[in-house]
Amino acid sequence: MTQDSMQLKDWRFSVDGEGIAWAIFDREGESANALGKRPIEELMAIVEKVEAEARAKTVRGLVIMSGKERTFIVGADIREFENFTTEQQVIEMLKPVNGMLDRIERLPVPVVAAIHGVCVGGGLELILACHYRIATRDDGTRVGFPEVKLGIFPGFNGTARSIKQVGPMAAMQNMLTGGMIRAGAAKALGFLDQLVGSPGELRWAARKAVLQNRKSTPAGAAKMFLTKWPARGLLAKKMREETAKKARRDHYPAPFALIDLFEKEGGNLDAMKAAETKAFAPLMVSDTSRNLRRVFRLTELLKGQAPKGLKWKPSRVHVIGAGTMGADIAGVCVAAGMEVTLQDINADQLAKGIASQGKLFGRKFKTRALKAAAKTRLIADPEGRGIAQADVIIEAIVERLDIKQKLFADLETKIKPGAVLATNTSSLKLADISAPMKDPSRLIGLHFFSPVPQMPLVEVVRGAATSEDEVKKGAAFVTAIDKFPLITKDVPGFLVNKVLTPYMFAAMERLEKGDDKDKIDEAARAFGMPMGPIELADSVGLDVCAHVAKILGQSSEGSRLERLVASGRLGKKTGEGFYVWKEGKPVKSGAQYSKAELEKLGRELVAPMVAESQKSLDEGVVENADLVDAGMIFGTGFAPFRGGPLHYQKSQLPPDTSTRAAAE
Ligand code: NAD
Repeated sequence: MTQDSMQLKDWRFSVDGEGIAWAIFDREGESANALGKRPIEELMAIVEKVEAEARAKTVRGLVIMSGKERTFIVGADIREFENFTTEQQVIEMLKPVNGMLDRIERLPVPVVAAIHGVCVGGGLELILACHYRIATRDDGTRVGFPEVKLGIFPGFNGTARSIKQVGPMAAMQNMLTGGMIRAGAAKALGFLDQLVGSPGELRWAARKAVLQNRKSTPAGAAKMFLTKWPARGLLAKKMREETAKKARRDHYPAPFALIDLFEKEGGNLDAMKAAETKAFAPLMVSDTSRNLRRVFRLTELLKGQAPKGLKWKPSRVHVIGAGTMGADIAGVCVAAGMEVTLQDINADQLAKGIASQGKLFGRKFKTRALKAAAKTRLIADPEGRGIAQADVIIEAIVERLDIKQKLFADLETKIKPGAVLATNTSSLKLADISAPMKDPSRLIGLHFFSPVPQMPLVEVVRGAATSEDEVKKGAAFVTAIDKFPLITKDVPGFLVNKVLTPYMFAAMERLEKGDDKDKIDEAARAFGMPMGPIELADSVGLDVCAHVAKILGQSSEGSRLERLVASGRLGKKTGEGFYVWKEGKPVKSGAQYSKAELEKLGRELVAPMVAESQKSLDEGVVENADLVDAGMIFGTGFAPFRGGPLHYQKSQLPPDTSTRAAAE
């Protein structure tokens, strides 16, 4: 092999004795490959060199691979997105990249992408410009277009190329949903051409593909029929209806703009490429995309709450209480690969709790063997034999101080040194639970949210006496089960319920004053909340709301809430609360309200949440404002496109006139 003399930093380039050029993407100083400015410029230089050598007949093909162990390309480098403030800047950035991809596509020698690990966003767009795509069958090898989650859609001409390659149905569906596709499914759809068993086989397969001049076959006429009129119009209409069920255009414009683009230009894929750039630019500089990128950064911030390089690795968990929370906590730990013993004083509840996890394992594991293995990792343990071996012990029994105190005083004598001891209490103080313990520094809170498999956040509660090491291990455990840890102080409601409660009670007070519950809920949704506060109260259970109110010092005396609880109308679970519930859904009036009145009410409704967020920050419940926002987005679904309650508050402030005047 001849080594290159191109002085590349993020790529390695060489031409072997058979005339095959190898471009290995291995971004300097980074654990994953993202397509930032420098790697793109270096790839441009590589393409230019291969063009020249192909003309000179010294290169007979190009293979693009990754030098990273687990990822191929994770997409464009979103850290660099913040450099663009105008549409024109975005267009100028895209032009040369798209020009380079066209040149790759037009190279006179075969261009093969050999993929192991995640290949998404800009990475998928790059391989779609190659002539042939080989990937490992590994579970970690995935392709996909996650752009909609960042408020944009593919901008490296991936809209047109994916439609050409797999047809409009599969391409649009993937771009609209942002999911990740496993290698087997990606091959069936046409994104990939060939699969190999392991990364070690990739080079050989790629070499063969070059020597045999293999070419991918684009989508056939049957699939491409849907790009023709009127089929294209009908498909666009259907996609618009489906998308509208999940998102509002005024909150999340990107998927709708993508459908418009397809409807208008999908009949001519070359025209679609140019139109893509024009439609992409305004999305990229929009507040929605900026805030969704912020949400992405917040996930990194939360993951960063777990210490790096900790030697302690949890693999055995013991959960006490197999009710609503305990059973799901156990299931989630098993789904993350851990072995779990589950304990309950009620044998029926224990059996039910274990059986209820089958659904989660069915969703998580695709093969029968993996599902069976998961089931064997979840062990019924009525006598608590697993306690002494467990790395983490989580209590999720009834919310009664005396019972929890007794349990922890006993547990403390049975656990192994170094094990994490946690309570899932939602309203009791850690200081009170640990009062009878010999060593209260061992107790942490791990506050999960319901439904556990769907909710990404877990509050890691630091009691006044809790040792820092235990908090760190708690956060590491939370990331090990693929959730986001948020370290909070031991105050009533921790962060999320403390901030959520005043919002819900202010909404209930409006009801007392005669406001319309449907209008309140609709206004909250129009603001961007996943569910209105009244429907949320019914879903959580009105008895639970009344209990939380007491803990957090909210008075519900003489209120409708109190009357409903007294009459046994507890919300969704009893079929009636503020709403009547039919088939798991509240019966709504169907009344229509004006946009302006909903907007005004929406802002008023969230004001108590914003105020309590600020108060929590001032009281140091979590470390900084970004963590408050992250907690409310991932713990309650607070309108992600608004970037969190404190970020929203900042964006509502009038522009600083003094600095503007000074600048003028
Ligand atoms: P649940 O009533 O559904 O389940 C509690 C289970 O604990 C029952 O199966 C019961 O048989 C068992 N149990 C009671 N005493 C026990 C003991 N001494 N030893 C072993 N098992 C015992 O309750 P849940 O909703 O799962 O709540 C459990 C804990 O989680 C509570 O502390 C609650 O505050 C907290 N929590 C609940 C939610 C929620 O949304 N439900 C959210 C966060 C935290």
